Amino acid sequence: MTDADVKTPTAETHSFQAEVAELLRLMVHSVYSETDIFLRELISNASDACDRLRYEAIANPDLLVENPELRIRLIPDKDAVTLTIADNGIGMDRQELIDNLGTVARSGTRAFIGRLAEAKDGAGLIGQFGVGFYSAFMVADRIEVVSRRAGSSEAWVWTSTGGAGFAVAPAGEVQAARVKRGTEITLHLKEDARKYLEGHEIRRVVSTYSDHIQFPIELIEAQKDAEDKAEKINSASALWQRPKSELQPEDYTQAYKTIAHAFDAPAMTLHYKAEGRQAYAVLLFAPSTRPFDLFDPARKGHVKLYVRRVYITDDADLLPSWLRFIRGVVDSEDLPLNISREMLQNNPQVAAMRKAITGRVISELESLADKNAETFGQIWDAFGAVIKEGLYEDHERREALLKLARFDSTAGKARSLRQYLADLKPNQTEIYYLVGENAERLKSNPKLEAARARGVEVLLLSDPVDAFWTMLPSDFEGKPLKSLSKGEVDFGLVPLLDEKKDEGKTEDNGQTDEAAVIAAVKSALGERVSDVTASSRLADSPACLVAGKHGPDLEIERLLSRQSRGVGAKPILELNMKHALVKAIGSAQKSEHGEDVNDLSALLLEQAQILDGEVPDDPAAFAARVNRLVARGLNAV
Ligand code: ADP
Repeated sequence: MTDADVKTPTAETHSFQAEVAELLRLMVHSVYSETDIFLRELISNASDACDRLRYEAIANPDLLVENPELRIRLIPDKDAVTLTIADNGIGMDRQELIDNLGTVARSGTRAFIGRLAEAKDGAGLIGQFGVGFYSAFMVADRIEVVSRRAGSSEAWVWTSTGGAGFAVAPAGEVQAARVKRGTEITLHLKEDARKYLEGHEIRRVVSTYSDHIQFPIELIEAQKDAEDKAEKINSASALWQRPKSELQPEDYTQAYKTIAHAFDAPAMTLHYKAEGRQAYAVLLFAPSTRPFDLFDPARKGHVKLYVRRVYITDDADLLPSWLRFIRGVVDSEDLPLNISREMLQNNPQVAAMRKAITGRVISELESLADKNAETFGQIWDAFGAVIKEGLYEDHERREALLKLARFDSTAGKARSLRQYLADLKPNQTEIYYLVGENAERLKSNPKLEAARARGVEVLLLSDPVDAFWTMLPSDFEGKPLKSLSKGEVDFGLVPLLDEKKDEGKTEDNGQTDEAAVIAAVKSALGERVSDVTASSRLADSPACLVAGKHGPDLEIERLLSRQSRGVGAKPILELNMKHALVKAIGSAQKSEHGEDVNDLSALLLEQAQILDGEVPDDPAAFAARVNRLVARGLNAV
């Protein structure tokens, strides 16, 4: 046993949070075959720890006085079969060891692990999550972490074999003397991971994954009969400060993976230096896959702010929430180093940077959409629902975002509004859309009928955010966007595809008295609807529900009333005056079956609700009504 024998009387044992235990179990049974990444994860944690110390030292320079050169050391030991990763960064105290290396704090973890356990291809999913420290259990069957929080007189040791739990104890004398500040992680390598004891393997992994880490990474190999040899094995310069011409796509990919703790490849990279009023370097990435916590209510951004190479915070809100999927770094030359996170909120320089960088990200997305529609499509599929939040929140950028947006429509998938406008039908002056919860169901919604009969394209919006941004009136290149479930629509001037089916010229002998039918339905339905009108959006179905011209669209009213926040606006029932069922109301009025008017009216309303994905207010009454009418129909035959 090494000097880290934790079975001392003072060792306390702790259980892993259930999620961690499950994650470890899945990992050990190797859902992920690329074991190399453990080193990238541990080095990137070490680098973050150095960043955090440098930040704390701005307010408290004493922390850095001894041992001011921040660095990361990799120490293979062939005799002990261990690989040690040591940093002299911020370190962890006892409680931090327990919290950070015993739990996963991120929300949505449980759901993620459930999916991981079910998935055949764990690797892809792991990528959306980033298992961080725990990935070390892919190569080690025992891990010891000795850590001393900067400025603390105590060092602690954490040990685990990756099972149900871990032990924490005060560090032994030797360990405490060795770890004066920061964290030393010793991996007892598994038999099949012995290759990580070889200098050339370590160099290979570091140059592949961690070359751009800002702090020196030193490989310390034991020399026979001589002093251990320390060798710097990365370039240790901030990648974003290097000229673009020096960098290869792989350099960016590796930087992205470390900075974002990501496993996928970036779909878009934006690297530039701003000069002029303010000088700063920007290195941003759009991931190619959706992270599992994209819709976390906190909507936190992931762009790191550095000031002159010193990491300050992830919380500077350098991009709006609707670009929260963008990862990367902004490194300012002008901000004061001692800017507090609170001060950042109201700092005009930060505000100016935010505006400029947001504009650049949008224009970069635009040019990607022009140049490489497929890659842009990947970004839109993963993050379009988030970008669309900007349509609601950022009035100034609405037009630009509408230009970026891609929609599924009755004409196909991922259509841009430019494409929509290019295909306008003669006399069509508006852009039509329908909002609902489910794209498939929208396709069969009766409100599409009149549009369909004219070949008019309709955008089918089924992301939850669609109900919100469409509340605000908007237009694109002079054409207003119009909901097919709100107010009046008039397709009158747009010619039918098949003139013979012209709704106006049916065989109808005009016997239905429209006004009388409408009045009858209205009185039958009473308070359940705000009005009953003749429809010009239906062709084959008898009825549909729409919202009034003023007030919220139907879908948003539904959403809000589910949360008891609806304004209580009642829908309008529109009737297809040419439909047999509607005509039947006219006949029933005049016949001895006058009571059928009530049943038929309610049926029209309830089937319209069902077609919108709603359940009728009283399903039992609905069923009874259907049965009554069918039974009567059968008797009549
Ligand atoms: P992540 O890095 O994604 O937060 P990890 O599981 O890799 O997840 O690490 C969990 C936490 O443990 C980190 O957020 C950090 O607070 C702490 N940690 C890990 N490694 C170190 C280290 N070398 N020095 C200081 N803290 C560390």
